[in-house]
Amino acid sequence: MREFNIAVIPGDGIGKEVIPEGIKALEAATAAFGIQLTFTWFDWSCETYHQTGKMMPDNGLEILKTFDAIYLGAVGFPGVPDHISLWGLLLPIRREFDQYVNLRPVRLFEGLASPLANKAPGDIDFYVVRENVEGEYSNIGGVQYPGSDNEVVVQQSVFTRKGTDRIIKYAFELAQQRDKHLSSATKSNGLYHSMPYWDSRVEAISADYPEVNVDHFHIDIFCANLVRMPEFYDVIVGSNLFGDILSDLGPACTGTIAIAPSANINPDKTFPSMFEPVHGSAPDIAGQNIANPIGTVWAGAMMLQHLGCDDVHDVMMAAIEEVIQRQESLTRDMGGIASTQELGDAIVAAIGNHR
Ligand code: ATP
Ligand code: MG
Repeated sequence: MREFNIAVIPGDGIGKEVIPEGIKALEAATAAFGIQLTFTWFDWSCETYHQTGKMMPDNGLEILKTFDAIYLGAVGFPGVPDHISLWGLLLPIRREFDQYVNLRPVRLFEGLASPLANKAPGDIDFYVVRENVEGEYSNIGGVQYPGSDNEVVVQQSVFTRKGTDRIIKYAFELAQQRDKHLSSATKSNGLYHSMPYWDSRVEAISADYPEVNVDHFHIDIFCANLVRMPEFYDVIVGSNLFGDILSDLGPACTGTIAIAPSANINPDKTFPSMFEPVHGSAPDIAGQNIANPIGTVWAGAMMLQHLGCDDVHDVMMAAIEEVIQRQESLTRDMGGIASTQELGDAIVAAIGNHR
């Protein structure tokens, strides 16, 4: 029997509402394959911060290290500054566990309308591979002559050979398995040092993948093209900042960001990887039982795939597809009237049809 220990951090707002639905789906899908998942819950959140001054205990990472994977809802809530919820939980996990790949599949499902005119399901089906631990998101820099008219703020980016090469290689490997087409986001006409370096590493590594077609676009035209002709793309690779932008733009083209998953992967498996929906804690709808749990269920499917259970992943994806296509039990963001639990129940029922 395959057995896995999963750390569960529901977090804040709707994170607490969607995670139980994800777990329901995971339990239904794994049962048929004789897989045993043990969930250990951690109530680390902005509430914890209010009570203790910390998002997670000092030994939080030590505790998480022992798990096979981490399943996260969302962290962040009004009243706690973003830099505290981010730098107090999410970023330490990503960085200390070397989850250097942020992988976000983007797919238009049959039954959902894209805001882009005339796009059918097969037209939007790509992956965004985002560098997740270095690049533009650094705390190196500072303010010179603060408060004076000569004030200067410097924000540095860090691109290491190791960090750049490993994310580009990961994207090439994925492209190799799919349509053999990789698109790299760049801005080598504006960013003097970092992006020409990025481009040079893409070119160097492409020599090892002669079958993969590579193109690159500056981030501005990249965004325009993604909206104009999403069907052109298959695997997209970008730095931390550009990948972040593209991985929100992508799901926005598929009807609702609430169905989109995000996997923070340590491909070497030296530390646990973390799986979460793309959306945040959505304070505007928290507590109303109307949050869409599909992004969380899909993130759970990616978690099982990462743990080597492709069979479970495929059943969960078939169930999501079926539920959306049938247009029953959809939440409001998808044009329905169902509650979070009703949609969760419909997914569990559909899993029963596919295993
Ligand atoms: P973060 O900074 O944490 O990413 P955000 O400011 O980007 O958060 P979200 O919390 O993702 O915002 O919410 C953006 C909008 O999408 C909100 O109007 C929210 O209600 C809606 N939304 C987000 N997630 C869901 C969901 N699962 N179901 C329905 N609507 C959602
Ligand atoms: Mg956001």
